[in-house]
Amino acid sequence: MLPEQMLAWGYTRNCIREVMEYGTIRKQEIGAENVYDYSIGNPSIPAPDCVNEAIADLIKGDSVALHGYTTAAGLPSVRDAIAKNLNDTYDLGLTGDLFYITCGCASSIAIALRAVLFPGDEVLVNAPFFPEYRVFTEASRGVVRVVPPRDDFQIDFDALKAALGPKTKAVIINSPNNPSGMVYSEETLKELAAILREHEKAIGETVYLITDEPYRELVYDMDKTPNAMCYYDDTFICYSFSKCMSIPGERIGYLAVSPRMHDKTAVYAAVLGAGRALGYINPPSLFQRVIERTVGAHSDFSQYKINRDILTAGLRKIGYECVDPRGAFYLFAKALEPDAKAFCEHAKKYELLLVPSNDFGMTGYFRMAYCVNRDMIAKSMPAFQKLWDDYHK
Ligand code: PLP
Repeated sequence: MLPEQMLAWGYTRNCIREVMEYGTIRKQEIGAENVYDYSIGNPSIPAPDCVNEAIADLIKGDSVALHGYTTAAGLPSVRDAIAKNLNDTYDLGLTGDLFYITCGCASSIAIALRAVLFPGDEVLVNAPFFPEYRVFTEASRGVVRVVPPRDDFQIDFDALKAALGPKTKAVIINSPNNPSGMVYSEETLKELAAILREHEKAIGETVYLITDEPYRELVYDMDKTPNAMCYYDDTFICYSFSKCMSIPGERIGYLAVSPRMHDKTAVYAAVLGAGRALGYINPPSLFQRVIERTVGAHSDFSQYKINRDILTAGLRKIGYECVDPRGAFYLFAKALEPDAKAFCEHAKKYELLLVPSNDFGMTGYFRMAYCVNRDMIAKSMPAFQKLWDDYHK
């Protein structure tokens, strides 16, 4: 006998992986140049030069020290460098001893949840959301409650208030958002903070805000993304260098506990415990040191902005309704039938690989990752036109 839940997660893939795997097969069958693959958020621009320069320099040093174990939470000098960088940007008063370096955002979120959840605790997630939040929550015996968004994809505060209850232990937000491309405004974050503070008072318990920020610097029409930790004390920041530095395969990110979090010393100890329990100790030592030298650098996002503008304009010209993408590298658009899965299945007829919104916690939309080759966007437009025509005969 094996645990049913593990088998279910092992056998079923989320909507993104399902489309991606189909794409791999299809590309072998008809050639990659004939498939319009918008399925995966894999950065398509190079890492900043300083990343490879740091690697080249580091490997000249003492190999034993470079490749050896580090402290479980990551090297203190790395944590200090990241704290300084965040403080310079947001003036958060963070110190290195509140950081836990992780293998990307996925492990940061899993650790934060494992650190604070008791079985049966509820975690509010704002739709549309990254599908793995459900797995990470349920793996820690928590229960997901989905909060639908407002029409403009900011948080629907009435829906949020209705979902808050005596068992609410955490709320997860993600801005810039995968899949909608929405960025939460300062007003949204301030209002969210006020509501959560009020709820903490009402139930006499801490409600943790987990802010998932792998796309933090990837914004187009603003200087910087507003940060929730500025407005709410009981906040964990979960960050990854995957997307903004174009190094997702290197598996490096962090979790930061707010210096103003209630019981922060105990919570940080629980983070250390959760890291141990999940086996997430000592993230890659070479890349910890790379980050120490390069933190604050990011890839040149101008290519994504051009892609965003071409894709959005092209689809809108045909008639598709798109959410205004302000950050990340995703376009979220209305499917042409209520059943997004059926719509994305139909799109395969024209070799368009689109991700249905169902696993993101809402129906009726599809996601396109536009971190792709520019020529592919141009070549795919006639296919989008044919798809549109099928629904408007
Ligand atoms: N959170 C969101 C919203 C994401 O889009 C992703 C990856 O696509 C992750 C978390 C996981 O990030 P990482 O690859 O750094 O673990």
